[in-house]
Amino acid sequence: MSDFEPVIGLEVHAQLSTRTKAFCGCSTQFGAPPNTQVCPVCLGLPGALPVLNGHAVELAVRTALGLSCSLNAHSRFARKNYFYPDLPKGYQISQFDEAFSGTGHLDIEVDGETRRIGITRVHMEEDAGKNMHDRGEDSIVDLNRSGTPLVEIVGEPDLRSAAEAAEYLRTLREILVFLGVNDGNLEEGSFRCDANVSIRPKGQAKLGTRCELKNINSFKFVQKAIDYEIERQEQVIIAGGTITQETRGWDEKSGKTYSLRSKSDAQDYRSFPEPDLPPLLLEDQFIEKVKAETPELPKAKRHRFVHDLKLTPYAAEVLTQHPRVAGFFEEAALRHGDAVKVANFVQAEVLRDVTTHGLTAELPVSAAQVAELLTLVDSKKISGKQAKEVYAAIVKTDRLPSELVAERGMTQVTDVAQIEAIVERIAAANPKQVEGLRAGKTNLKGFFVGQVMKETKGSANPQAVNDAVDKVLGLVT
Ligand code: ADP
Ligand code: MG
Ligand code: ZN
Repeated sequence: MSDFEPVIGLEVHAQLSTRTKAFCGCSTQFGAPPNTQVCPVCLGLPGALPVLNGHAVELAVRTALGLSCSLNAHSRFARKNYFYPDLPKGYQISQFDEAFSGTGHLDIEVDGETRRIGITRVHMEEDAGKNMHDRGEDSIVDLNRSGTPLVEIVGEPDLRSAAEAAEYLRTLREILVFLGVNDGNLEEGSFRCDANVSIRPKGQAKLGTRCELKNINSFKFVQKAIDYEIERQEQVIIAGGTITQETRGWDEKSGKTYSLRSKSDAQDYRSFPEPDLPPLLLEDQFIEKVKAETPELPKAKRHRFVHDLKLTPYAAEVLTQHPRVAGFFEEAALRHGDAVKVANFVQAEVLRDVTTHGLTAELPVSAAQVAELLTLVDSKKISGKQAKEVYAAIVKTDRLPSELVAERGMTQVTDVAQIEAIVERIAAANPKQVEGLRAGKTNLKGFFVGQVMKETKGSANPQAVNDAVDKVLGLVT
């Protein structure tokens, strides 16, 4: 056991899922050729004036509300001045000492217990461009990302292990995706995290000196980098050294963090109020509107799926992996009426063919098709086995299951006399099996049921077949 306690605080930058940028009308679409989504404003040309994107404000406020943050009716944008090639204006428009949100919190589950992690604040800012070093001999600056709206979510130093930090990030990402404010795409850089890590002797109240780990783009690496960093700091202190406050990077290959630059506490960005933007005023009416439009959070959804719709916690978990999947399930359940049946079918068949990318999802069938298909099974028009066949045929079409059933002349055989006749025929052709079954080899019953199903191409009602086998072979008296 170590004598030190790790302390971790995370800063997350999340791109807001707006169509256009924070202060101009350029597209925010990812992946376009470099510098094709730019204008005088986001290129930082002299004299160009920013105009705030109202939708970005809505999504930022939604984010703060989702994290139980208080809101400040009056806030202000500031210029954070620094030089870097991807920052054409020479400053970033951000919120500094007058952010639109105050403190809030995020609950995470660790080892079956709920831990409440403080949120210091949420504020709005703009993203920088991107330096690219992989296009030929020269490095280029791509300014397509320049001016994309971000929320920065500053967390309190309340986390006590790398595993807690990873869980915090997973939970936060899920909330943002369900709120529809961010696409959660770590690889594309729309959800980025800086981890501040320090250690202190157990029992000490004062925080130790922190190092900031920059921009690690996967949850796995965040956890590894923090674990490495905790260990490194312990070694330094045990050896009698002291930690210097600095910014560190993560090297995936060696599995180590390395020093990027030193960082003084009051890094001087010479922040001052942005003269080209008026103060941001959040009116009650606006806040009420955002509240009314805020989607249900994943945890509440799961709770409702278990308590109201009677799903197992596992099913509730699986069906809330993505907001579109959850929405699909809910619509199908509403149309059909039996949420558990729908949940089983969606899990067994539909999920296999679902692909997601960011906030969008491609579902192989519509909720209406699933609801109708299961209704055909309920009314015994087709068997569960036939339902799978129909499902396979309607995937990626807009055809109605009933149409297909009619077209293929599918009906479930429930006629007892007809099924018994088939069993008799099979029994006559397989005397050995009949003998074996009568002698007590009960597993041979499956053979007969299987043969009937084969002969009827899966259209026989399973219960009726079982009953017929019992009766014809004299298994029940
Ligand atoms: P900056 O913007 O310069 O990174 P902040 O004061 O805004 O600095 O702090 C950023 C983050 O650092 C917060 O998430 C906070 O929880 C975390 N943090 C601050 N002090 C410590 C510390 N001693 N150990 C670990 N995390 C810390
Ligand atoms: Mg920081
Ligand atoms: Zn622009």
